[in-house]
Amino acid sequence: MPFNQINSYCYIYESAVNIGYVTDGETGLLIDTGIDSSSVKKVVKELEQRKLPLTHLFITHAHADHYGGAAYLQERFQLHTIAPRFEEAILRNPSLEPLYLFGGNDPLPELRNKFLEGPPMRVDEIAEEGMLAIGTLKVQAIASPGHSYHQLSLAAYDTLYAADAYFGKEQLHKHRIPYITDAVKTIQSLEKLMQVKTEGAVPGHGMYEKEFRKTLQENIDYHLNIMNEVEELVSKHPDGVTHEETVAAVCRKFEVNGRNLPQWLLFKTAVTAYVTGLIHNKKITHDVSDFKWTFYPVVD
Ligand SMILES: [Zn+2]
Repeated sequence: MPFNQINSYCYIYESAVNIGYVTDGETGLLIDTGIDSSSVKKVVKELEQRKLPLTHLFITHAHADHYGGAAYLQERFQLHTIAPRFEEAILRNPSLEPLYLFGGNDPLPELRNKFLEGPPMRVDEIAEEGMLAIGTLKVQAIASPGHSYHQLSLAAYDTLYAADAYFGKEQLHKHRIPYITDAVKTIQSLEKLMQVKTEGAVPGHGMYEKEFRKTLQENIDYHLNIMNEVEELVSKHPDGVTHEETVAAVCRKFEVNGRNLPQWLLFKTAVTAYVTGLIHNKKITHDVSDFKWTFYPVVD
């Protein structure tokens, strides 16, 4: 049974993308929707069978696999929809994702697929970090940027719905280079979630665990390892290594499958997130040399 009850308030629809659900019998809050109408229809069926309410929708971040089913739900249910600041702009204008991945150019048609761009949706309320009253529920929104610009995780009734702030162990290793936009913020968010005092946690991709702090630590170690690999690569090039060479070398090293433009752009963004992390931490320097963005080791 993929629809699991965690405690008297909290449920998880476990799937390729987990969907959270919290209820006190009066308010029914769905957390993310999965990629399209078919994923969210299955959850709705489970709620109807159990006569559970559906009154509110919270979207953690504007990635199509987390909000793609929202427009379908909004057409059929009276739902009050809440989303984090900034992410909400992308949810209302989903072509912003292929646009930013493509470095600001008008995206080529192959980038406008359902994995990078879901149907536009409505956002009724913008959320910030802190305690939120959602209907009759009280939940804590925790800023967890790094994977997406203003992602909010939710701690509700002893369950942390962490979205993509971390990945399950299996998913972490499967992705090889997990998608992030900023390595420093990713690690800070992971350290922050370590302090959350819920009984268990569930990531967007992976299993519910009571021992989630171990998985958070594994995520931290995994990111630090990639960052070290990038630093080591740059250290071997005292005369500089270009951005393009760095992306290719790291993708080769981790044996990722980035052979088409959408996949490659996701890996390019992730590798760049480690590079900018090293620049922030003053571990490498950079300039534009001969019209190529180039990285250099720091000479002591
Ligand atoms: Zn995501």
